[in-house]
Amino acid sequence: MTKTYNIAVLEGDGIGPEVTDSTVKVLKAINDTSNFKLIFLYGEAGYHCIAEYDTNLPKETIELLKQTEACLKGPMTTPEEPGAPVSAAVKIRKMFNLYANVRPCRSYPNVDALKPDIDLVVVRENTEGMYSGIEYQVSSGAAVAMRIITQEASRRVAEYAFNLAEKRRKHLTYVHKANILRVTDGVFNAAVKAAAKKHPDVTVDDVHIDAMAMHLIKKPEIYDVIVTTNLFGDVLSDEAAQVTGSLGLAAGANIGDSYGMFEPVHGSAPKYTGQNLVNPTATIMAAQMMMDYLGEKKAAEKIQKAVMKVLQEGKVRTKDLGGSSTTSEMSDAIELKVRAI
Ligand code: NAD
Repeated sequence: MTKTYNIAVLEGDGIGPEVTDSTVKVLKAINDTSNFKLIFLYGEAGYHCIAEYDTNLPKETIELLKQTEACLKGPMTTPEEPGAPVSAAVKIRKMFNLYANVRPCRSYPNVDALKPDIDLVVVRENTEGMYSGIEYQVSSGAAVAMRIITQEASRRVAEYAFNLAEKRRKHLTYVHKANILRVTDGVFNAAVKAAAKKHPDVTVDDVHIDAMAMHLIKKPEIYDVIVTTNLFGDVLSDEAAQVTGSLGLAAGANIGDSYGMFEPVHGSAPKYTGQNLVNPTATIMAAQMMMDYLGEKKAAEKIQKAVMKVLQEGKVRTKDLGGSSTTSEMSDAIELKVRAI
C-alpha cells in the first residue's frame, strides 16, 4: 500500500499565503515524483482569524493538526497589544511539546554571505524561557516577565543538540548569560554539561550571548551546532540567517517526540503582502526539513538539490538576492528542477 502523509497547511498572514502556495507547488512535484502520497489539509490560524473566531488558533485548527503527521506553517502576524492572543506559533509549540527549534544557516552559491563556508545550526529551546508568556504589570510603572528554565526542558533540547552534533562535525557551542542570570542559566548549563558526559566525542564550548552576537559576525564559519535558551536562540538565528545572506533563505523546524511543525524563520513582512516579490526559498527549505523529519530522505535531498541548482545557475533570483524575479518565478524554477531530478 502506498504510504500517505497528512500535512497540515497553515498559510498565515501577510506574505504567508504567497510563500506557502509556492511551497505546496514544490511539494506537489515531490508527490508526483515519489512513491508516497502527500495529502494537504488546510487550516486557519493567525492574525486574520481573530475578528472571526476571537482567537488566532481556532479549535477546528487544533483538531486538524491532531489528524496530521506534520505541519507546514506560514508566517503569522503577532498582535502586540497587552491582552491580545499570544502568538499562534508559540501556542502550537507548547500544545504539541515541540521542544527543539532547529534553524540551519549555511552559505549558498551566488548569495552574498559574510563568509563563503558557513554551515551551522541553531538549536533553540522552544517551550519556556522568556517566551513563557507569563508577564505582569506590578504597578503603573513596573512590569515583570517570567524567564522559566527547567531541568527537563533543558535536558531534552541539549540531548537533541548533541545527537545532531554527533551526525555533523561533532562540535557543540552552548550560549548563555550565566554571569548575570546565574540561577536560570545555571539550570540550563548544568543540563548541557550532563548531556555532554553522554557524548564524549563531541567537542563542547560555551560563549556568553553578547560575545556570541559578535562572534557570529566575526567568525561564523567555526560554529557547527549552537544550543541555547528560547529568546537568545530567536535572536541568534535571525542574525545567523542574515550573516548567510538573507532571511528569505532561512528555514526552521519545531520538533517534538511525536509531531513536527515547519516554517520559515522570517515573519509575515506585511509591507510586501500580495506583491509577489519575496523569496519563497525559506518556506521551501522548511518543507525540505519536513521531508527529512518524515524519513523521506530522497525527497528532502531532491528539494535541497533543486534549490542549490537554481541558486547556482543564478538566473532566477528574487530581490533580496539582488535579482528581479518574482516569488512565483522562483518557486516555478525550483519546482521544475524537482521534477527534472
Ligand atoms: P519579518 O521577518 O516579517 O520582516 C523583516 C524584513 O525581512 C522584511 O521587511 C523584509 O525586508 C525581510 N524579509 C522577510 N521575509 C522575507 C522573504 N521571504 N524574502 C525576502 N525578504 C524577507 O519581521 P517583522 O517585520 O519583525 O515582523 C512582521 C510580523 O511577523 C510581526 O507581527 C511578527 O510578530 C511576525 N513574525 C512571525 C513569525 C512567525 O510566524 N514564526 C516570525 C517572526 C515574526
